[in-house]
Amino acid sequence: MIVERDVALARYTTIGTGGPARVFARPQSQAELDEALALAATESLPVEVVGLGSNLLVADDGVEALVLRLEGELAAVGVQGESLVVGGGAANAVALHAARDAGLAGFEFACAIPGTAGGGVKMNAGAYGSDWVAVMSRALVVDADGPAWRTPSELGLTYRHSDLAEGQVVASVEFALRPGDRDEIKAKVKELNARRKAAQPTNRRTFGSVFKNPDHELSAGRMLEACGLKGHRIGGAQISPKHANFIENAGGARSEDAIALIAEAQRRAREQFGVHLEHEVQLLGALAP
Ligand SMILES: Cc1cc2nc3c(=O)[nH]c(=O)nc-3n(C[C@H](O)[C@H](O)[C@H](O)COP(=O)(O)OP(=O)(O)OC[C@H]3O[C@@H](n4cnc5c(N)ncnc54)[C@H](O)[C@@H]3O)c2cc1C
Repeated sequence: MIVERDVALARYTTIGTGGPARVFARPQSQAELDEALALAATESLPVEVVGLGSNLLVADDGVEALVLRLEGELAAVGVQGESLVVGGGAANAVALHAARDAGLAGFEFACAIPGTAGGGVKMNAGAYGSDWVAVMSRALVVDADGPAWRTPSELGLTYRHSDLAEGQVVASVEFALRPGDRDEIKAKVKELNARRKAAQPTNRRTFGSVFKNPDHELSAGRMLEACGLKGHRIGGAQISPKHANFIENAGGARSEDAIALIAEAQRRAREQFGVHLEHEVQLLGALAP
């Protein structure tokens, strides 16, 4: 198993910020994952996972943990009948490609989500009216007690939330899809990608939506736009001039700049709308808005 120490995590996050992981391991198989968990126990380190880092802010000072990135068999993609069976580290784009090649529909919405299957379970990722809970049949969760298959309800999947705890690693995910026409799947993906490009900053370094949408007539983005925050900058981080629920790395950003923007946005939404905006982005290391 590949084990490294003090590995800079900035290159493993889409926003491009964050300090080093004390220990960083890239298990390629279930056996190596078991080995990694044993290593964490020996070194008394908590276990954290990074997928494609597309919803992640890592503390600039780094993370005192064993950070895992699932590769090899743990990122493999396959189809069994109408099931899409993928490793927790598999990129959604690769999984979608396999589903389309096999003539399986229902996963097109994930074209807009630049993460992994495991990250999707953690976040109950979703877009365009669908999400993980709508298509996932079960996930293999591994922790210090060993592996166990869990259903979406056992995982407590709700809007951008799961009950997965620290140290629980999603090693495999099964999606129940339906037969579909390959050309129609392709056309749907093209349409969704075009909609995304028109509305969001797709060519900038971001971590996706900063906040969950509140229970309010305005979405988080519209609310922050009404607060006049579009383009607001702190250090190297900037609220997107295109969509106010995105923070961009405008050059040389640090995670603490993004955290300061999150705190400022929360303050303004509270003052102007009496609403507490809950951040969707996951925080790794000692970070708090
Ligand atoms: C441009 C852009 C657009 C986006 N659009 C959407 C969207 O439309 N809808 C949406 O829901 N999200 C969206 N996101 C956010 C993000 O892509 C999703 O939340 C995605 O599911 C995160 O997956 P990841 O593999 O990158 O996870 P990471 O960002 O690496 O990690 C996120 C969380 O999941 C945990 N995690 C990751 N892998 C595992 C695993 N194998 N086992 C256990 N825990 C794990 C991490 O520890 C962390 O807590 C967008 C992001 C970007 C940058």
